[in-house]
Amino acid sequence: MRKRRKLQGTRRAGLIAAAILVFGYATIDAPSTTNLSWADEATESSSVDSTLVARLQTDDEHRGEKQSEYVRALSELELGLQELGLVNVLDVDPTLLVELKYASEDNFMGADVYGDLRTAFLRPSAAQKLKKAHDLLKERHPELRLLIADGFRPRRVQHRMWEIVRDTPMQPYVANPHSGSIHNYGAAVDLTLALADGTRLDMGTPIDHFGILAQPREEQRFLREGKLTEEQVANRLILREVMTAAGFIHLPIEWWHFDAFDRATVRSRYEIID
Ligand SMILES: [Zn+2]
Repeated sequence: MRKRRKLQGTRRAGLIAAAILVFGYATIDAPSTTNLSWADEATESSSVDSTLVARLQTDDEHRGEKQSEYVRALSELELGLQELGLVNVLDVDPTLLVELKYASEDNFMGADVYGDLRTAFLRPSAAQKLKKAHDLLKERHPELRLLIADGFRPRRVQHRMWEIVRDTPMQPYVANPHSGSIHNYGAAVDLTLALADGTRLDMGTPIDHFGILAQPREEQRFLREGKLTEEQVANRLILREVMTAAGFIHLPIEWWHFDAFDRATVRSRYEIID
């Protein structure tokens, strides 16, 4: 039977925050319980500093410093994720860039469905692989950074996505919430390449382009047909090479999506978080 954990408001969040400051957060890669307090409670007593978020979004100068401040301004929801054993990728590698697609309106749903989830969380071992990939990228291409568009995705958001795409041509691009996406376990990441100021490289399609042009397995054909350029395919290869060298598995149908482990390993080690 699954245990339910609920966050108990600001006092508990304060204690957790104090514990994090004093002891650092736990990085135990253990299976987690599954239920996380969501928007109802989180919005009521949100501790995300909206001024800080606005500054982060509007001013690219000193971006790294501001991201570190942002790390310290986690919402209760995010503190709850840490309590369940996930880690903020910016704690593992502060030089990563993070702009969550589903925490903006720039996604296929046209809505911010993440609320107080503003930064990317992963299982610790997946976050370590991501750091390894980023180190490799910076070594090979010092001007480039990994820009994270999604990490852990709550299953309740997966349900919402599924309702939109079910029985449409978009269905193959969204995992059925009943079996769960690897994102729901905190072991998958969506990302692209960017310059240090956040300017994205041209990958041929945006992230979440639900069409065949996004499929790595068709790249060579699209290159021959002139639907993708040499540069776009080369950019995808740079991303794929550093991610697979760090141990990630890439999908044949989405250039931006990478799993930290195969599905059987993920299911044996972790639980879905709702
Ligand atoms: Zn993905």
